[in-house]
Amino acid sequence: MKITDVKTYTAGQDGRNFLFCRVFTDEGIYGVGEATAWPSIQTEIHHKASLIIGEDPFNIERLWSKMFLQTHGMSGIVGAGAISAIEIALWDIKGKAFNMPVWQLLGGQMRERLRVYTHANTAERARELVDQGFTGLKMGGIEHCIRDITAIRNEVGDDIDIMVDLHGMPWMTTRDAISMGRRLEEFGVFFYEEPVAPENVEALARVSEAINIPLAAGERLAYVFGARELIEREIVDVIQPDAGRFGGLSQMKKLAGMAEAHYIQFAPHDGSLGPVGEIASLHLCATLPNFLIWEHRTGDVQARYEVMAPQPEVVDSYIAIPEGPGLGVDLVDEEIERYACDLLGGHSSYAEDNTYDSQYVYARFPRKRWLG
Ligand SMILES: [Mg+2]
Repeated sequence: MKITDVKTYTAGQDGRNFLFCRVFTDEGIYGVGEATAWPSIQTEIHHKASLIIGEDPFNIERLWSKMFLQTHGMSGIVGAGAISAIEIALWDIKGKAFNMPVWQLLGGQMRERLRVYTHANTAERARELVDQGFTGLKMGGIEHCIRDITAIRNEVGDDIDIMVDLHGMPWMTTRDAISMGRRLEEFGVFFYEEPVAPENVEALARVSEAINIPLAAGERLAYVFGARELIEREIVDVIQPDAGRFGGLSQMKKLAGMAEAHYIQFAPHDGSLGPVGEIASLHLCATLPNFLIWEHRTGDVQARYEVMAPQPEVVDSYIAIPEGPGLGVDLVDEEIERYACDLLGGHSSYAEDNTYDSQYVYARFPRKRWLG
């Protein structure tokens, strides 16, 4: 079997965009993948495609190295995103060719279903989701964080796991991240995510030393090389690679092994990712001893739930491991066309929000508002 072509597909709605690819072969089988939806990553997918056309799609490690070494490893998130999309598609091809689910190729089932969490920022939304069966909820941002977690905890009780994500903002001082973490201890938080930007390993290490709740990070990192220090120094308790930009499922599997040796749990990031990447990480998590919980995006733009089929079904906060060959999902071409978008032409809804004045929060609000 030989790779004959790589195509990219974009879809978007309300400033929320998705970037997919298909890798085609001379035997009629193709695979699908997804990466973080940046125009630079779309360009990089086409750039890397020229390296793999004519190659055997089954040689995933070899093709990974070829794509990685093209830029001497100096590719950052853009290169890692492009490799992620293509590499996921290669696993899909292999699964289809051997009539096996991707999880089977990655090591077989560790479990039959995965525990799932989703997002709630208000007590009302938390109640709705708990009534739907969710047992894990993540709230994001720091504005009124303590006020909101108090309301959510009071609403849902102690049997629901609550996660808090500060999104690693570059303006957050390390001391305030520690202060916030200490205040969160009484709420029995499941994990405290990116209290400071993960690129500053020393700052994250200071937070880690000072608090007594599990610390999570990793969604902005690329390759095992980028995550190595967080693992080796046991700074985090939960590692969160993003399937659309970490560098591929094989890199994520290696990372999980590194984490396992340090008693670190694995909970892949989904928040800004789309549906195909989410399913790819599901296949990997099915195989991992140190899998913790799977992030599933509910309440996203409608396009997310229409451009890929079938859609995952969450029952009582669990999702079943898919049985079909490959990833078991495909793009829905009519819907991709209906939601067609030009990644260069749009910005995230966050950037277009005219209440957002691009100033660091310290300069915008009284301290009490976001730390209270
Ligand atoms: Mg996050």
